[in-house]
Amino acid sequence: MKAAYSRNVDPAFPDRWADIIVRPENPEEISEIVKVANKYNIPIVPRGGGADLVGGSAAQGGILLDITRMNQIIEINEKDYYCEVECGITWGALISELFKRGLTTGIVGPGSGFSATIGGGLSNNTAGFGSTKYGLITENCLGVEVVIPNPKGSIIRTGSAANKYAKPFCRYGVAPDFTGLFMGDVGTMGIKTKAFLKLYPNPPFKVIRNYMLNKNNFNKIPGLMYKLQKEVRDGIQDLYVNPLVVVQLLASLAEVRPPKRAKVRGPVFMFILEAFDERILDVYIEKVDEIMKEDSRLFEWQELDLSVKLSKDWDFTLKFPYNYFNKFVCLAPPKISCTTCHKLPISEIVEKREESTEFDNIHKGDFPSQSYSIFARSIHLLPNGHCVCAGGFNAENIPGQREIAMNMWHKKVRKQVNYGGAHYWLGEAISQSIVEADAYTPEFIQFFKDMKKTVDPNFILSPKKFHMYGYNDDISKYIDKNEEEI
Ligand SMILES: Cc1cc2nc3c(=O)[nH]c(=O)nc-3n(C[C@H](O)[C@H](O)[C@H](O)COP(=O)(O)OP(=O)(O)OC[C@H]3O[C@@H](n4cnc5c(N)ncnc54)[C@H](O)[C@@H]3O)c2cc1C
Repeated sequence: MKAAYSRNVDPAFPDRWADIIVRPENPEEISEIVKVANKYNIPIVPRGGGADLVGGSAAQGGILLDITRMNQIIEINEKDYYCEVECGITWGALISELFKRGLTTGIVGPGSGFSATIGGGLSNNTAGFGSTKYGLITENCLGVEVVIPNPKGSIIRTGSAANKYAKPFCRYGVAPDFTGLFMGDVGTMGIKTKAFLKLYPNPPFKVIRNYMLNKNNFNKIPGLMYKLQKEVRDGIQDLYVNPLVVVQLLASLAEVRPPKRAKVRGPVFMFILEAFDERILDVYIEKVDEIMKEDSRLFEWQELDLSVKLSKDWDFTLKFPYNYFNKFVCLAPPKISCTTCHKLPISEIVEKREESTEFDNIHKGDFPSQSYSIFARSIHLLPNGHCVCAGGFNAENIPGQREIAMNMWHKKVRKQVNYGGAHYWLGEAISQSIVEADAYTPEFIQFFKDMKKTVDPNFILSPKKFHMYGYNDDISKYIDKNEEEI
C-alpha cells in the first residue's frame, strides 16, 4: 500500500514513503486525525487524485491523507446554479452527472484526466478545458468546508455558507473572503472537505475549428488573441494555440499517415466555440473566420493524421478533452517531465518566449542529455487577457539524470519567476523555486507565516512547500543569490 502511494505523476522526485496512510470518510474523522497529529507532532500531507506533477501530494514520513473516499455529490441545485460536493470526488464522476442534466462547472478538469479531484483542483488553481471562457476552477468556487490543522481540528465553512443559516450560493459578502486563503494553497492552509461550485447551463451547440497560420509567425498570436477576446469572447469555450514545432512533432507522431501530407507552415489555433442557439453559433463562426482569414487557413488534423476526426464529425464528449491531452500535451513518452506551465499576459508572450529560448540555448549543456525543452506545447487563452504557456522539459528517469533534471527544473522556474510569470500548480518544486527566485518580499513571507501560524500553530500541514520547514526558519537562506542575469 505504501509503495503504491510513494509516487504520483512526479518521477523527477525519488520515492517517498509515508509512515501512515489514512483514508477518512468524513470531516469529523479528519478532525480527529488532525488532533492526533497535533498531539504527537506528525506532519500531514493531503492527497486527492495524486495527478500532481510537482511533488505536492506525496509524503516522506508522517501521514498521507487520501481523501478520495469522500466522493459524494451532496446537492446539485439546478435552479440556483450551484453544487455542493465532497472534495475527494473526481472530475469524471461530477461532470458525468452534470452533463446528463445539461449542466457544467464551466472548466471541466485538468489535462491529467478525470481521476483528478475537485479538492486537488482547488488546491492547485487548476486551469483546464473550458478555462478560456470560464477561468480557473478557483474562480468558480463559492466557498469550501475546511478542516483547520489546529489542535482542535476545527471545521469551518466559507463564502455565504459561513452564515450557518445560508445556502452556499455565493462567495462574497458574509465575511472577508476566507475562501481565497485555501485556493491554490497546495494543501498548506487546511484540508478541504467540501466545495461549493458555480454551475452553468451547458451550451448545447459546440463546434471545433482549426486554423493554421500561413507563416511561422509567432508575433501574430497576441494580436489575434486581442481581437478574438474583444469581438467573440463569450463564444469561445477554448482557444489553444499549438506552436509550429509542436505541429511538426504531432505530424511526425501521426498514427495513420495520409498518402500525401499537408505542408506544415505555422502554428495551429484550435477553437471550441459554443452557443445556446445555432444561429448565434453561426455568427461566432463567421466572426472567427473573419478575424483569422488574413493570416491563416482552415485546417484539419486529418491532413497530417487520418486517425483524427474531421471537425464536422466532432462532438464534445468527456472523451474529447482526455484524448486531446493524451495526444497533444503528452507528446513525448512519459519519462521525467519537468513542467514549467505558467501564466503570462498576452502582451508578454512573444518577449518571454524569446527570453526562455535564450535561456535554453545558454544552458544547453546543463540540461540532462536527450532532454528537450519547450516554452509552450500549447498556449491556452484565459478570460481577462492572459494565457497559460504549458511547457517544460523531459529527461531520462534514471539516477544521476534525475538530479540534474531537478536542478535545471528549479533554475528554469526561477528564470520564469524573474521575468514575471505566474505559475499555478506549485507543489514542492515550483513553490520552492519561487522562494529561491527571491520573488516574495520579506513582508509577504512574514504575512504568509503569520496566516499559517494562525491556522497551523504546530506546523503539521504540508511542510517543505514554499521552503517552509518551521516558523523560526529563515526562508531567505534559500534565495539563490548567484543567479546570473541573462
Ligand atoms: C499529463 C498531466 C497534465 C496536467 N494538466 C494540468 C492542467 O491542464 N491544469 C492543471 O491545473 N493541472 C494539470 N496537471 C496537474 C494536476 O493533475 C492537476 O493540478 C490536478 O488538478 C490535481 O488534482 P489531484 O486530485 O490529482 O490532486 P493531488 O495530486 O492529489 O494534489 C494536488 C495538491 O493539492 C493538495 N490537495 C489535494 N487535495 C486536497 C484537499 N482536499 N485539501 C487540501 N489540499 C489538497 C495536495 O497536497 C497537493 O499539493 C496535469 C498533470 C499531468 C500529469
